[in-house]
Amino acid sequence: MTRKVWFVGAGPGDPDLMTVKARDLIAKADAILYAGSLVPAALTQWCNEHCDTQDSKGMALEDITDWLIQRAQPDKRVIRLQTGDPSLYGALIEMVQPLDKEGIDVEVVPGISSAMASAAASVESLTLPEVTQTVILTRVEGRTPMPEGESLKELAAHHSTLCLFLSITLLHKVTADLMDAGWHESAPVVVVQKASWGADENIVRGTLSTIKKQCQEKKIASQAMIIVSPTLGARYWDKIKKSKLYDPHFTHRFRKAREFPAQK
Ligand code: SAH
Repeated sequence: MTRKVWFVGAGPGDPDLMTVKARDLIAKADAILYAGSLVPAALTQWCNEHCDTQDSKGMALEDITDWLIQRAQPDKRVIRLQTGDPSLYGALIEMVQPLDKEGIDVEVVPGISSAMASAAASVESLTLPEVTQTVILTRVEGRTPMPEGESLKELAAHHSTLCLFLSITLLHKVTADLMDAGWHESAPVVVVQKASWGADENIVRGTLSTIKKQCQEKKIASQAMIIVSPTLGARYWDKIKKSKLYDPHFTHRFRKAREFPAQK
């Protein structure tokens, strides 16, 4: 029997936004180590009464991997429950390497990222035809240095959509870098705190020049996604370029263009 650890994306917070696969795994788990700072304990509500659950909030990397290695015995289902999707800012590889060394199998179950949940909460589209077709998932430089060519100023020069993780306490730097990159101070910004957390969810809409003050007033200093995009607020625009997908004049794999009578 192989030894195995599952890295499971818990989604952004709402237990209903967890995948069916994640729920089924949790229900059969023998041990779950969850990132308590962001994964509400409610997400472990489907586990059985004998399941060994532990919040990893106070644990360092080695404590985490030791915990997983110890419990990953043959026939045991061990889960590391991560916020959002495990591939984004989740220290996934740091945790996988020690398991690889022990010969323990690893499987990852994707989750809904907070970037997606924040777009959903604010009814925004991160891409729009002829506005932007690109989304950059990034963060502003804090204690973790940014690799060369990835400063916010450089990335913002594309004028595409930016979803900024882990950056809410550096909002002053975000707005300054964007303006340095040529964004106007009236460019729209949406900050979503605790997207999908029901009554705790907080959505703040502003501009590069107002957003910092607005967030301060609402005391938003953690668990927040910053979205800056030329698409923001498109719901209220008079004219938008529509996508080709639903254009009646456009043929694609699943639908033939409608014939229109010639214009007289
Ligand atoms: N893997 C996670 C990100 C972990 S990094 C994911 O895919 O979402 C933690 C950062 O994610 C936070 O600083 C915040 O920027 C963002 N975040 C996590 N949960 C959030 C939520 N429910 N609402 C808004 N932002 C959230």
